[in-house]
Amino acid sequence: MTDWKLFDSELLVAPGAKSNLAGRPTVRDDLLADKDAAKDALDECSKEIDVLQDRLYAEQKRSLLVVLQGIDTSGKDGTVRGVFNRCGPLGVKVTPFGRPSELELSHDYLWRVHDAVPRKGVIGVFNRSHYEDVLVAKVRALAPPEVIEQRYEQINAFEKHLTENGVTILKFMLHISKDEQRERLQARLDDPAKHWKFNPGDLEDRELWDDFQAAYEIALDRCSTPHAPWRVVPADKKWQRNAFIAAIVRGTLEVMNPTYPAKSWKAEDYKVV
Ligand code: AMP
Ligand code: MG
Repeated sequence: MTDWKLFDSELLVAPGAKSNLAGRPTVRDDLLADKDAAKDALDECSKEIDVLQDRLYAEQKRSLLVVLQGIDTSGKDGTVRGVFNRCGPLGVKVTPFGRPSELELSHDYLWRVHDAVPRKGVIGVFNRSHYEDVLVAKVRALAPPEVIEQRYEQINAFEKHLTENGVTILKFMLHISKDEQRERLQARLDDPAKHWKFNPGDLEDRELWDDFQAAYEIALDRCSTPHAPWRVVPADKKWQRNAFIAAIVRGTLEVMNPTYPAKSWKAEDYKVV
């Protein structure tokens, strides 16, 4: 079993402390060097996540929300595929957040997010999230600065509300280097099977790299709370990224320790004819 507690403490943004995003590595060979071993560990963790998810579903009392944030090509989709591919589709709900629709814009920014929060028994995965409203919204000035300024505390209060109502929240920022992003964007241009993933807007966002990193840093500083702390995941190596996240998801579910409901009947009292 991988040492998820060690991973967790290394990747955690301690609540109240500076995240120091710029100083955080995008590769952690010191923590996880052996690719084959990491893949085996991922395999074991994702199988175990499925077992725990089955218990969570049977218990019907709590849910787990996994928030994936990261710039284009950071591996949000790949994480969903790599970490949750063993889970039965019944108990996992993935929600991607793109540009808000007209209807969504006619509500407050948390409206669509609250609606997507997993119900009891379910693992919800957010591919992007309400954090876009303090990330792209800040960088592209989609709302006035004073409105964005208020959102950090609103987000903290919203997440506290969720955790007090049975939702455990895990927030992962997938941290890649600018060089790695270049390679991945180029791969999307070079490989016809990846063309669908390419969006010219990604290049515009890349030009704003420093602004996005700065916005992430502020969000990590201000929204890593005791009830919903952030983890910054070194994501230049996909196998490290998946292994770290799977280990932490599994460890968190083990701590939650969902249990099959007690039954009020005895199997031996019944006979199927
Ligand atoms: P992708 O994840 O590549 O499908 O792209 C989704 C796009 O939607 C990204 O460019 C995000 O920045 C954008 N997006 C997501 N949430 C919001 C939001 N709340 N406001 C504006 N743009 C958003
Ligand atoms: Mg994209």
